[in-house]
Amino acid sequence: MGVLWLDEVDKDDVPIVGGKAANLGELLRVGIPVPEGFVVDGKTFMDFIESSGLKEKIVEILNSINVEDTKQLEEASKKIREMIESTPMPKDVEEEIKQAYRKLCEEAGEEVFVAVRSSATAEDLPGASFAGQQETYLNVRGEDEVVEKVKNCWSSLYTPRAIYYRVQKGFRHEDVSIAVVVQKMVNSEKSGVMFTSHPVTGDKIAIVEAVWGLGEAIVSGMVTPDHYEYDRVERKITKVQIAEKKFMLTRGEDGKTVKVELPPEKARARVLSDSEIEELVKLGEIIEDHYGTPQDVEWAIEKGKIYIVQSRPITTIREKKEEIEVEEGKILLKGLGASPGIGVGKVKIVLSADEIDKVEEGDVLVTTMTTPDMVPAMRKASAIVTDEGGLTCHAAIVSRELGVPAVVGTEKATKVLKDGMVVTVDGEKGIVYAGALKEKKKEEKPAVVAQAPIITATEVKVNISIPDAAERAAATGADGVGLFRIEHMVLGLKKHPMKYIRDGEIEEYINELYKGMKKVVQAFYPKPVWIRTLDAPTDEFRAMEGGEDEPIEANPMLGFRGIRRDLKEEEHFRAEIRAIKKLVDEGYTNIGIMLPLVTSPEEVRRAKQIMMEEGLPLDKIEFGIMVETPAAALIIEDIIKEGIDFISLGTNDLTQYTLAVDRNNENVAYLYNEEHPAVMKLIERVIKICKKHGVKTSICGQAGSYPHVVEKLVRMGIDSVSANPDAVQRIREVVARVEKRIILDRLREKEIESIPK
Ligand code: PEP
Ligand code: MG
Repeated sequence: MGVLWLDEVDKDDVPIVGGKAANLGELLRVGIPVPEGFVVDGKTFMDFIESSGLKEKIVEILNSINVEDTKQLEEASKKIREMIESTPMPKDVEEEIKQAYRKLCEEAGEEVFVAVRSSATAEDLPGASFAGQQETYLNVRGEDEVVEKVKNCWSSLYTPRAIYYRVQKGFRHEDVSIAVVVQKMVNSEKSGVMFTSHPVTGDKIAIVEAVWGLGEAIVSGMVTPDHYEYDRVERKITKVQIAEKKFMLTRGEDGKTVKVELPPEKARARVLSDSEIEELVKLGEIIEDHYGTPQDVEWAIEKGKIYIVQSRPITTIREKKEEIEVEEGKILLKGLGASPGIGVGKVKIVLSADEIDKVEEGDVLVTTMTTPDMVPAMRKASAIVTDEGGLTCHAAIVSRELGVPAVVGTEKATKVLKDGMVVTVDGEKGIVYAGALKEKKKEEKPAVVAQAPIITATEVKVNISIPDAAERAAATGADGVGLFRIEHMVLGLKKHPMKYIRDGEIEEYINELYKGMKKVVQAFYPKPVWIRTLDAPTDEFRAMEGGEDEPIEANPMLGFRGIRRDLKEEEHFRAEIRAIKKLVDEGYTNIGIMLPLVTSPEEVRRAKQIMMEEGLPLDKIEFGIMVETPAAALIIEDIIKEGIDFISLGTNDLTQYTLAVDRNNENVAYLYNEEHPAVMKLIERVIKICKKHGVKTSICGQAGSYPHVVEKLVRMGIDSVSANPDAVQRIREVVARVEKRIILDRLREKEIESIPK
């Protein structure tokens, strides 16, 4: 180990070479043109800090700081980086790197320019999409310089933003290593980025952004790029937006990146031709197909040839939010809608990261372009507005991930807007209005216009997470709610549940739960609503006010969540039960309580005991569990003995725990398969045994929205299926067809039997 050529690595090497290098190796394998290069693996860095004794010192420094304190964070970063950069690299490692570089130069017969890029294993973890978190050095030439830059990349694992980000995401510093890719530079005439599918909606619309010269200009948001859209279903270019690209970055005589002002004709000229866009999209489709998920691709064109410089999964696609419009108002600015949603607040103009302390909760952060050091302020902001940038700039990517509405590329926000002004930002349409405008709900439309209702023996229910969407979900005609996930509602409260409890405000919390739950049970009354008690993963809840005590876990999917957590934080569980009791006392008996992530009969017994202590009339409502661990599936008989009315198959978790595939981990997503025989065996077993004991069976995992899975479950005799609102009608049709098929087949069997032999 040490230095590996890119065509020697593939996705299985992520742990040693990082996501970036592994991806490049994968791309080479499917014939994508990637510039030649090698990677110094992550183990080399680990060995370096361990053998030099730096590791303990680093951990000690990091453990002693509060990352929310910007000054402390910066000082720690500086100290660690200096320590790394001033410690010599072991001689053998240095020689290996130099040798590899010389090999890269052989063909050209002279010292070539290379890009030296960090490939941190944390950077490409799922849920992580902060572009450019660690350093990249372009136009590096000469073996000594390459060695020096490799070391600079190593130290960039400890930039303030990288440290902050790891803490926020719950990654342990010790677990993150860094590999470094050294790759021949493409001296690009044009370059840019491409989303192979729409980064917000996930629709099959490729988005390409392009500038003259080197691509750094886009990623950093320095230049507003041309913007093209290509409809991959219709196979045509649907949008061409030419921006004024005032300058470009290019390689100067001495190899340094220089900024070159462009004459107006070139600044306003279109960068990509139709055929170049089409060719890029084709490459993008090969990559997306290969990974099975939309990609965020960096590309460059040199002497007419396209190179793919980098590709990573898009982590920001999300379900469409409820559409909200604002009442008309005076338009102050227009730009690109980069992160949907409406934000209202006071303008705070921030011209550099030193000023981020100005931004208070709910302010509108206005800046030329955000930098990763501004993330703490971006988190607090109700909206973000920038002068520069396109859909793929830092502000756009990060605000989408944080769920903060954003408008980028307005060109003059920092001039037009003034500190203290109140504005309304529409991150969907890309508009900034004067004043605090009222939100206007779009006309409520039922998600499905039902024709003659289809009656099925197997009930078809719907999953819900947002109480405000209950009316619409009920309009699908679903037979009830098979899963009401309350996490969404709780994450929307003003502080962490345990903070309410610590602050002696448990009644306020119970009331919030009661209000949200009531919206749903009311909308569906008298149809049943199965409310699931809180399944709070630590990483998601840490971001809430008062969430700083959430433990930092290596894998929150296997951690402190589900019923195990509620039984440890018993007051919290009791609060949920009291909210439900209030509803039952008011006559809403169309409720079922469902426990998440059950693994033992003891958990069920203890939960029931608490419910009884709280005086919840369990004879009036239903009580059940989610079957989402192999443990629950394999000892379902013992759980049934505790007294349950129903089970619901949580196939999202059941699949990950059965196959040892983290459902959030993009690197193993290709192995995630709800129909794996092992998963199907567990499901079949559970349905059979529950039937025998008169316990109702249902499914509420994503697989309940897949027709081919539902067909199998109906044949196994499942009692109900709970689908996403948009899938209810389709699933109902599938269920009806399968049920008819079963009856028909039985009748035909009988007919055949009755034919005299
Ligand atoms: C599941 O695990 O299938 C499920 C429905 O629960 P969640 O997706 O909320 O973990
Ligand atoms: Mg689950």
